[in-house]
Amino acid sequence: MSDINSILKQYWGFDSFRPLQEKIIASVLEKKDTLALMPTGGGKSLCYQVPAMAMPGICLVISPLIALMKDQVENLRKKNITAFSIYSGMSRKEVINTLKVATNSNCKFLYVSPERLETSLFKEYLPGMAVNLIAVDEAHCISQWGYDFRPPYLRIAALREELPGIPVLALTASATKEVQEDICHKLNFSHHNIYRQSFERKNLSYSVFKVDSKINKLIEVLKKVPGSAIVYCKSRKRTKEISELLQLQQISSDFYHAGLTQEERNRKQEAWIQNKTRVIICTNAFGMGIDKPDVRSVIHIDIPDCLENYYQEAGRAGRDGKKSFAVLLYDENELRELDGLALIRYPSLDDIRNIYQCVANYLQAPTGTGEGQYFDFDISDFIKKFKLNSHTAIYSLKTLEQDNWLAFNEQVFLPSKVKFTTSKEFLYEFERDNPQLEPAIKALLRAYEGIFDFPAPVSELVLVGLLKKDVEEIKKDLAELHRSGIINYSPQKNKPQIIFLRNRIKAEDLSINMEQYHLRKEKFIGRVKNMIQFVQEVVICRSKMIGVYFGDRKIPVCGICDNCLRQKKLHIDEKEFEKISTLIKSVLENQPLPSKELIEQLSSIKKEKAMKVLEFLQAENKIELDHAGWVRLK
Ligand code: ADP
Ligand code: MG
Repeated sequence: MSDINSILKQYWGFDSFRPLQEKIIASVLEKKDTLALMPTGGGKSLCYQVPAMAMPGICLVISPLIALMKDQVENLRKKNITAFSIYSGMSRKEVINTLKVATNSNCKFLYVSPERLETSLFKEYLPGMAVNLIAVDEAHCISQWGYDFRPPYLRIAALREELPGIPVLALTASATKEVQEDICHKLNFSHHNIYRQSFERKNLSYSVFKVDSKINKLIEVLKKVPGSAIVYCKSRKRTKEISELLQLQQISSDFYHAGLTQEERNRKQEAWIQNKTRVIICTNAFGMGIDKPDVRSVIHIDIPDCLENYYQEAGRAGRDGKKSFAVLLYDENELRELDGLALIRYPSLDDIRNIYQCVANYLQAPTGTGEGQYFDFDISDFIKKFKLNSHTAIYSLKTLEQDNWLAFNEQVFLPSKVKFTTSKEFLYEFERDNPQLEPAIKALLRAYEGIFDFPAPVSELVLVGLLKKDVEEIKKDLAELHRSGIINYSPQKNKPQIIFLRNRIKAEDLSINMEQYHLRKEKFIGRVKNMIQFVQEVVICRSKMIGVYFGDRKIPVCGICDNCLRQKKLHIDEKEFEKISTLIKSVLENQPLPSKELIEQLSSIKKEKAMKVLEFLQAENKIELDHAGWVRLK
């Protein structure tokens, strides 16, 4: 077994591990099932990549996001480490091929997206594969009680049974205590072996403002805090509007959301990373896999629906350890909307059945068929066609997904396909008359055996190598051949898709596990409540609140969040403040009092301090002081 430090140096060029990485790696090398909680950017990948390199055999990595998976594979290959991936959109034949190649090569990493964990296939190939470790990225997705449940993750338990004695390393950036336990349970951990990096972010100052005009406050913050910034908002449309408003203020900005093309997104993201754009206004589609160290502020102009998301998004500020700001803006209406959110997110069974019926009609899938089939699915067209409420549609689809009826995937990648549609005789003639297209035809026939008789998935990049032309030219050639009737060319797709996981049934027969559905709804309501509490809290340190939420009670008071700063101004510490304000409230609960009398009743407390707390409570709208000097609870 090679020394892990020399592996780190040899392949990654780093001199030392971060403190927790070493412990996690040691635990994995002792073959213990391990759960690692580390913030995004904390360096989770190395925790499985290094031990896998130190052991003979293959590390199986379960990872939910195709784009990130592809990045990882590419990065490993750049280090001369053999890695493959299996994901949605690959045909069964391609999957089998990849499994074969992985078995018969010096492959060290096989990335698999969870929905491709088809037990029958994997059962066949796993025994020959010498798996040394199962790494489960974004492990919180296995928990129904978490904020991002993905049912295919539940297949991992069955996979484990095929690989007795092989340890699991589960990785996540945020999971509450309850979800941490659930991850260990669902993955059949032999011991609950949990490593948690502190949720403390010493250089990050959290603050929350209730405002009348979000845009004014946003501009104020951006003018006060120079440097790179992210502004999160919920609606795609608003990202653009806000960016335009900022530009009017001479603030360099751009907008970003999942509705833009891949090229646009890459361009905008790159310009922001290189600091050519200062502020990026985006939906939560932005930020995954981005590791920009010098973000000075992350501003939320809508309340996120849970602290898990908030913590991760806000945490993108200040990776370089320099002072940074996480700012949340809200108004009263929003709190009411949050209260009603559960009703929208958890539609009624009737609604769900109706949406299921619409989907079946839209895709024209007859009853009794459809299992395993992929369909292009343009959700906005779907919603328009059936005049649906978009929330009801989206969240009903989500429920259908969570109950294993179908999978709705925004990011299925389908490779280009080519099929020859002409005879050999005509092909020769065509080549003679169109010599400029001959190399492309020859390359297709050479690179894809049997392509003349059967349609085949092709990679434009492979043709780049053969033809010494760039991708765009090759796409042009293929399109030209298509127009000339020589081939049928369908370019690669990155379109949203629906996959039927079971045959279509009659809508009225559709069932949902209602007990679990209600439980999930309750958990959701709990998360929203915690989020609202965080927003409304005016005393407790925000960093501490986050720590407690994730089961880390040892976080010290940060001293730099808005609540801590307010306390400092009062010259009363948190405990004393709590004591005094509780006392005031309990006295006022019985009856309103003139302020003088109230202070007299608080005889155990210095008058000066009592006044300060009173003023504070009044400013925060917790109590009311009328013209006659009477104080009452609000
Ligand atoms: P996560 O998956 O936790 O979000 P990554 O594994 O993507 O984080 O790592 C984030 C960044 O930190 C990467 O650029 C990685 O190269 C870097 N990194 C990880 N570990 C170390 C280390 N020990 N020394 C230096 N850089 C590291
Ligand atoms: Mg990661």
